[in-house]
This record gives sequence, C-alpha cells and structure tokens, in this order.
Amino acid sequence: MSEIIHRTKTRQVKVGDLTIGGEDQIVIQSMTTTKTHDVEATVAEIHRLEEAGCQIVRVACPREEDALAIPEIKKQINIPLVVDIHFDYKLALLAVEGGADKIRINPGNIGRRERVEEVVKACKAKGIPIRIGVNAGSLERHIIEKYGYPTADGMVESALHHIQILEDLDFHDIIVSMKASDVNLAIEAYTKAAKAFDYPLHLGITESGTLFAGTVKSAAGLGAIISQGIGNTLRISLSADPVEEVKVAKELLKSYGLASNAATLIACPTCGRIEIDLISIANEVEEYIAKIQAPIKVAVLGCAVNGPGEAREADIGIAGGRDEGLLFMHGETVRKVPEETMVDELKKEIDILAEAHYEK
Ligand code: SF4
Repeated sequence: MSEIIHRTKTRQVKVGDLTIGGEDQIVIQSMTTTKTHDVEATVAEIHRLEEAGCQIVRVACPREEDALAIPEIKKQINIPLVVDIHFDYKLALLAVEGGADKIRINPGNIGRRERVEEVVKACKAKGIPIRIGVNAGSLERHIIEKYGYPTADGMVESALHHIQILEDLDFHDIIVSMKASDVNLAIEAYTKAAKAFDYPLHLGITESGTLFAGTVKSAAGLGAIISQGIGNTLRISLSADPVEEVKVAKELLKSYGLASNAATLIACPTCGRIEIDLISIANEVEEYIAKIQAPIKVAVLGCAVNGPGEAREADIGIAGGRDEGLLFMHGETVRKVPEETMVDELKKEIDILAEAHYEK
C-alpha cells in the first residue's frame, strides 16, 4: 500500500478554540447519551468526558427543546460543542444561534436551496464549521442505485456531492466523516476520501459494538487508517459509557505516538520468572497515570532478570524482585526499593517527571 500522508496536508478548520487538520495530531471526540434538553444530566456527562480527556463533545438534537438547551449547556462546559442535526434546517439555525461550535448536517438532506443557503449564511456569520457525515448505511438512493450496494466509491461520491453544495456557496469550513460498520469498507472509504479531497477527516467505525468487541473492531479499523497518516479527529463508537470511548481513543492514539498529553504504560506479559503480583500492580499504575497529562512512558515488569532491559524505552519503571524491586530509568537501575513501597516510590517519580514536563 502506498503511503498517504493526508493528516498534515488537509485544510485547517477551527472548532471553538481547537484547530482540526493541517497538523499531525488527532483530536478526541465523544457523544453524550443523555437527552440534550436535560441540561443537568447532559452537562454532568460532558464534565465526566472532559475529565477523561475528551476534547470535543457532540450532542444529539432531534427536537426543538434540545436546540433551545444549547446556550445553557455551552455556559457550563469547557470544550467545544458539536450539535448533531439530521434534516431540520430550523434546528440547525437554532443550534448555531445558541452557540454551537460546529454542526453536523448533510447539506444534501436539508431540502430546498434557500434553506441550505440560510444555514450556510448562519455558520459563516458565526465562523463555525459543518461536518458532513457520510454513512454507508444511509447513502442517497441514486448512489445505491448506481453502485448496487454501499461501496467506498459510492461513499466518496456522496461526500463530494455534499461538499459541492457547500463549495458552491463559497463555504469551506468543512470536516467529513465516512463511517461504516464494516471495517474493510471504512478503511477503503477513508483511504479513497484522503485522495479525493483535502478537507479534514473525522474517523469512526460506526455501530462497532460493546466495550470489548467494539474496542477491538475500532482499533483494527481505525488503526489501519491512522497508520496511513489519515485522520484529524476521531470518535470511538461503543455501546458503553462514553467515558470508555475516550479512554479507548486515548489508548489508540498512544499506540501511534499521537497523544501528546497522556502517559503510557508498558507492562510485561508475565512468565514463570515473575516475582510480584504484576497484574494488580499494572492495573493500579494504569489507573494512576490516567490523570497524567504528559507523554511519559512507565514500565511495570515482573522480574529483574530481563526487566529493565526489556523496557529500555520507558522513562521510569519498576521491576519486581524477591523482597525488593528495582527502580529504573531508560533501562538503567536507579536504586533498589522495598517491595511494599515499590509502587508508591514509582508514583512519586512519575509525579516528578510530570511536573518537569508541565513546567517546560
Ligand atoms: Fe518474564 Fe521477567 Fe520478562 Fe516479565 S519481565 S515477561 S516476568 S522475564
């Protein structure tokens, strides 16, 4: 497969105070599960998402009461808010007026041209972008008739159709998603989209499933796309608490060195040489580093025989030993630590490294 570096070659689109596209980073999004008009529940969920590392949040807007709740939600949250609208241009206008930082609507589904013009005019006036959401499961009838069934070419054609409508109105603050629940179809669609236009791409495998199955499926599909240099923002779609979506997204981005504000855990797979209760220690350390917003690599290893050498890339780590462990940095032992205080010593060192990073 030839290498495509689309990520840095896309246009830059502002969403609130964030920039999507044109740089080698992928912004994490999630979507609330509450009724949007229930402001208290929606804001509480958004606060939990913010704390987990979510950078942009989307809310559904099926009714007028949801659109009318946008101003109050906006007042109480700290990350950009995307409002998801299906067909109703009036809801789009209300959302834009209410302070949405981006709307998700397909211009081809709005109806008469004057309505599209009205929405585009409102977005331009407020300087907010539109995400075109192409979904393999809901392609336009003429595209399904042409291709027979949902194909990557059909999805790209649909995206270009919606893009053209916006470009004809001289609107270019566009982000595009090409979601499919079939992993191979999603990979092909995003790969073709990256060659077809330079608008930022919002990645996602839709209806991917429950926490476990959906995580594996999303990682398989999105990993193949991200590894080609494609994607500027992403949402992991899980049938689970949306906080889990953010945790999975962060972990996926860490795997590609694309999370600049998260610590990574390296834990040995364990074997017969193990000297400590590695599984519970690894879980404890993983939970501890979830709050660290610095790109620190932390290792937890089961024994001191091969331990430090096996985790040379770690900034800091511990290796288990009989009665005492080793604290090491970049593969070199720093000091011996008693087994019972080993994890606390590691946490202290992690905090020192994090502080040094924050001060930079
Ligand atoms: Fe086995 Fe030690 Fe390597 Fe862990 S670090 S896999 S316990 S040899």
